Parts: sequence; structure tokens; C-alpha cells
Amino acid sequence: MPEKDAVMRAMTNDGAFRIVAARTTDTVRGVVAAQKLSGAVANDIANLVTTAVLYRETMAPSLRVQCIVRFGEGGGQLVADSHPDGWSRGLVQSPSSDAPPDVRRKRATLEMMRTLPNSELHRGVVEVPESGNLSEAFMRYMQLSEQIVSMISLDSKIEGPTPATGGYVVQLLPEAAEAEAAMATMTRRLESFVDIGDRLQASDGSPAHLIEQIFEGMPFTWLHESSIRFGCQCSQLRVMTTLSLLDRSEVQELVDEGEPLSVGCDYCGASYTVEIAHLQGLLSAS
Ligand SMILES: [Zn+2]
Repeated sequence: MPEKDAVMRAMTNDGAFRIVAARTTDTVRGVVAAQKLSGAVANDIANLVTTAVLYRETMAPSLRVQCIVRFGEGGGQLVADSHPDGWSRGLVQSPSSDAPPDVRRKRATLEMMRTLPNSELHRGVVEVPESGNLSEAFMRYMQLSEQIVSMISLDSKIEGPTPATGGYVVQLLPEAAEAEAAMATMTRRLESFVDIGDRLQASDGSPAHLIEQIFEGMPFTWLHESSIRFGCQCSQLRVMTTLSLLDRSEVQELVDEGEPLSVGCDYCGASYTVEIAHLQGLLSAS
């Protein structure tokens, strides 16, 4: 059976480690196709989407998260959203169309946001290392901002006959006995799981396969599986809601232009048309 995008979790039976692994191949394919991306920036947004999926599944499975790589004033940004319903999306905002922002050439920060159950926002920012390695940036964030020891690898092979994108987070659990020894063993083991691109390609990105390889020889228990997909939350209703926030004079200007308003979604490429009558409706409603 062909693999589908999914997140799987497992825990070692000694209670020392938890793993969350994701296949995001098709989700990323949707993001890359919607924005016609290629080259390094396509791989970067792929890894950022995987980051958002893994971050949500690790920290807040039932809440939404957003991850942003910012390139500083006027330098553009990469944005990834992951939603508890299973959809994720990504957006590359370039300062110019011929030069997408490159995390290996320009200093950037990684900003991670998640909604808390009381609907407050938890937000943390770390520097992306000079290498531009987003796995390391994500690890640094988990360490510094969430204080959770995590070993993380993300990888993405977008072009070629066997595209594969995915990643994993291995976490030392607080109740681990002999935590230092356990960490040392796991760190050694994960040395051969730093670059996972080839492994992902060989198994069609299967998160189950990745977990079985990483926990090989260690008794473990499967915990939970959830499916993920490319998606967006844009809708005609959201477009109308956004328009209703405009000043009356701005809406009046749109009406005066005398043409139906066309609004495109940068994330997924969907386009919406707002008829003049509906714009006029906004005027009478406000
Ligand atoms: Zn959309």
C-alpha cells in the first residue's frame, strides 16, 4: 500500500523516550505546487512545514501552531501553519520574485507560536544557526524556550523520482531513570539518523519505519497515529470578515472602482470574487 502523510508516536517501554515522527511528503508537495517553488527555498519551506507539524503534535496536538523564519527588516519570511484538524500550509514571502530568501546566506530567526488551552499565545524566538539548518534551530528552540531535551532531524527531497519529506523528534521523558546514561546511548544511536533524506526516500517516508529503525532493539509501544494533509482555512466567509474590518472609506473606494473585487489566497492559490452588491452590503451594515 502506498504511504500516506501521517504522524506516529511511540514510547520506549522503560519510559525513557518518546518519539514523534511525520511523513509530510504530500502536504509539502501541495505547498510547493501552490506557490510554484523550487530549489533551496522549496526544501526550506518543506522543513518548516514538517517543523510545524512535529511541534504541534509534540506540544499541542489539539491546538494550532505557527512557525516563522524571519529574515529581518524587508528580508521576507517563511511561514508554516499546522492545524489540529490535520491540515498544514506554508508561505514564502520574498522581498523580490527573483531572489527568494535563503536561510544559508542571510541571518534569520525562528519564531514558534502555539495557542495555549486558555487561548493565550505562547511565543518563543531563537536564532537560526549560520549553517541555516532548521533541525538545529528547532532543537535549540525546544531546549531554550520549552526546556525539553529533544533530538530532532528533518529532511526533504523534493525533486527527482522519489520525493520524500519528513522528520522526527525524540524526547527524553522527565520520568526517565538514569537519564544521563539513557541520553548517551540515544545520542550515539541517533548519529546515524542525522541525515534522514535517504532513509525517507528508501521507505517512501514511512514514519512507522523510521520509528522502528530508531528504536530497533528497544522494547517500545505504539501510542497514536494521526493523518495530515495540505490544506488552508481561507474561505469566502473569511474574505468577507476581513473586508468588514476595513474602514468605511476604503470599502467605498472599492465600490467606486465599479468592478467585482478579486481576492487571492497567497497560501493555497484559491481566488475569491466579491460582487459589488456585497461590498455595498458592507457599507450598509457598518
Ligand atoms: Zn487558502
